[in-house]
Amino acid sequence: MASYDYDLITIGAGSGGVRASRMAGSYGAKVAVIEEVREGGTCVLRGCVPKKLLVYGSHVPEEVEDAAGYGWKVDGLSHDWGALIDAKNRELDRLHGIYVKLLENANVDRYHGRGTIVDAHTVAVGDKRLTAERILVAVGGWPTMPDVPGIEHAISSNEALELRARPDRIVVVGSGYIAVEFAGIYNGYGSKVDLVFRADKVLRGFDEDVRDTLTDEMAKKGINIVAKTLPERIEKTASGVRVHMNDGSVIDADQIMYATGRAPNTAGLGLEAAGVELGRNGAIKVNEWSQSSVPSIYAVGDVTDRINLTPVAIAEGRTFAETVYNNNPMSADHDDVPSAVFSQPPIGTVGLPEHEARDKYGEIDVYVAGFRPMKYTLTENTERGLQKLIVDRASQRVVGAHMVGVDAAEIIQGIGIAVKMNATKADFDATVGIHPTAAEEFVTMRDKRPDPKHVEAAD
Ligand code: NDP
Repeated sequence: MASYDYDLITIGAGSGGVRASRMAGSYGAKVAVIEEVREGGTCVLRGCVPKKLLVYGSHVPEEVEDAAGYGWKVDGLSHDWGALIDAKNRELDRLHGIYVKLLENANVDRYHGRGTIVDAHTVAVGDKRLTAERILVAVGGWPTMPDVPGIEHAISSNEALELRARPDRIVVVGSGYIAVEFAGIYNGYGSKVDLVFRADKVLRGFDEDVRDTLTDEMAKKGINIVAKTLPERIEKTASGVRVHMNDGSVIDADQIMYATGRAPNTAGLGLEAAGVELGRNGAIKVNEWSQSSVPSIYAVGDVTDRINLTPVAIAEGRTFAETVYNNNPMSADHDDVPSAVFSQPPIGTVGLPEHEARDKYGEIDVYVAGFRPMKYTLTENTERGLQKLIVDRASQRVVGAHMVGVDAAEIIQGIGIAVKMNATKADFDATVGIHPTAAEEFVTMRDKRPDPKHVEAAD
């Protein structure tokens, strides 16, 4: 039998790679992890965590305004952006330390540098060559930007989390998760935000009611929604950038941020030379066991471009370790994965949007409620939310649940359990609401939205 330096070498110490490595280590495997930047990965260092910390703080001015409705008088609100970025960075340092400890406690060796694949069992890092029975690629993704003249003047979400001064004016390009979240963050802290994108409303692929609601609410909060328009050219100016749009208009700003998607980080990794098959955008093609076309090379997380969410990467890492190192075969479940967008207001969603449910099930029942959060009744805040259930008419199973509004992410996590357990509309109806909450709407919706087919027939 061949002898290797390690049982497992993981390239990339993000959520998926760290979970797989430390579990493999705890099951007795000899493991090494190679990381180019810092242990923690996108979610901890450049994504979910710092983003959500900035989201929390960005709500404060609106909360202070709302406080007036409850009799509070707050004078002289001011903000220290540098203090915020320093506090956020201290928290990231703490989390990085935790990730390092987790690996050390599982006896995982750590290497710093760019790991590249030499062959099916060999990885190079710096001037070292390490061999392993198996290699796990967990290098995640990286922001991509279109080839627009002057694109070198644009920043991505990576830099947007690190700016030492808050831009007074920022153009955000794109209308996916990252674009709407950062537009909300900067708007909340007081920047003038232009959200520029090619679709007619934000969040393509989400339920249409959710898209309409968020697009309207973002505009109400002061974000300038520039739909069906894109930058044609970006010019550097003394104070920032001048963005020339394809409709002939011009926007001057301090920063322009692109959030036009992310791509698997596979360029230059040596995968193709080792025989690993890549798919769209350079994603590593894997089977249900996260195994690539080369049997000793596995991949988890965003680099496989299945569902690009941290908890999914963690599930893929965990199931890989269980299968390979604990003799407990399991594959990650990619069905009915709940997710949230930390826009303002936030979105929580699980299951299918209406258009996909209609394609899949044909006959569906749709229940929709628009609401004004009770929290705002004494205030001048006009924010409205939405709750929506989609039910397969034949089985009566709830196949989609969507919410826009305060605490949507927290609420949908619980609804996600019910959907995962195949709850029917009758199960929802049999559940007693908690009053007064927004969440109770999910168990009290009784009126179906008229079926578009019947409405058409009546017209
Ligand atoms: P998304 O895929 O969500 O959105 C990409 C956006 O960029 C879309 O609006 C798309 O437009 C637009 N776009 C793509 N190409 C071009 C182009 N050439 N010119 C102009 N516009 C373009 O990507 P994000 O970068 O927002 O996020 C990446 C992934 O990260 C998400 O898919 C998600 O999985 C994950 N994520 C999850 C979060 C969460 O769970 N809260 C938060 C942040 C990220 P169009 O709609 O017209 O195609």
